[in-house]
Amino acid sequence: MIGTVQRGRNMATKTKLVAGNWKMNGLRQDGAMLAHALKERAAAVGETQGCEILLCPPATLLSEVGGILAGSGIGLGGQDCHAAPKGAYTGDISAEMLADLGCSYVILGHSERRHGHGETDAQIRDKIAAAWRAGLAAILCVGETREQRQAGSAGEIVSSQLDGSIPRGATAATLVIAYEPVWAIGTGLTATTEDIAAMHAEIRRRTPAGVRILYGGSVNPGNCDAILPLPDVDGALVGGASLNADDFWAIVRSYAAE
Ligand code: PEP
Repeated sequence: MIGTVQRGRNMATKTKLVAGNWKMNGLRQDGAMLAHALKERAAAVGETQGCEILLCPPATLLSEVGGILAGSGIGLGGQDCHAAPKGAYTGDISAEMLADLGCSYVILGHSERRHGHGETDAQIRDKIAAAWRAGLAAILCVGETREQRQAGSAGEIVSSQLDGSIPRGATAATLVIAYEPVWAIGTGLTATTEDIAAMHAEIRRRTPAGVRILYGGSVNPGNCDAILPLPDVDGALVGGASLNADDFWAIVRSYAAE
């Protein structure tokens, strides 16, 4: 069943979550068209339970997309935040600013931040604490590189990212994990269903009860039916396919078939 209830930190923790990470894509007109298209699809389905839907547009579009989504039940999230609530941090955005724009989530520790901006586990931990301070739930991304998987250290890497990035006091209402093998992001490659199930089971053992674990890495309408029903997969973090309303909605709809 498909649900479009904006729950954020108050949501029922067993609800599936499909989140779209638009990354640095979209001018105002593009973002508005995509948000309207998804809002229309959600309205056509109506208010049901089972799958929470979240859009994480670039910061420049949060206000506009948030306005369009108001009342639709589709949630709004940021893609990163600074650890401080305010101050002399040119170009940065605080968790409080995201909350002020209507966000209920923020993606943190994405591999494009870890590898492109040199973010460390300690910095990500501080950002998660900042998200909680502002009343946001954090979507913490973890995942190994191709070399690390080939070296047989994927489990070790993901475990150390979890241990290093999650502050004390995480709960199912404040934390979501996204397992995103770095080599699968934006490449069209996906981990095997066996590898996904094994890694999610390991993440489940290492995180508080009820924390949802999303899979991310080239999820698309062609592979979501194989990935989303796997044990311990509680939804998806979708990059490229979230920029197309039909594709993103097809992924959301795959939960309707369950
Ligand atoms: C992502 O950026 O979080 C992601 C999973 O991207 P894609 O779906 O394009 O691989």
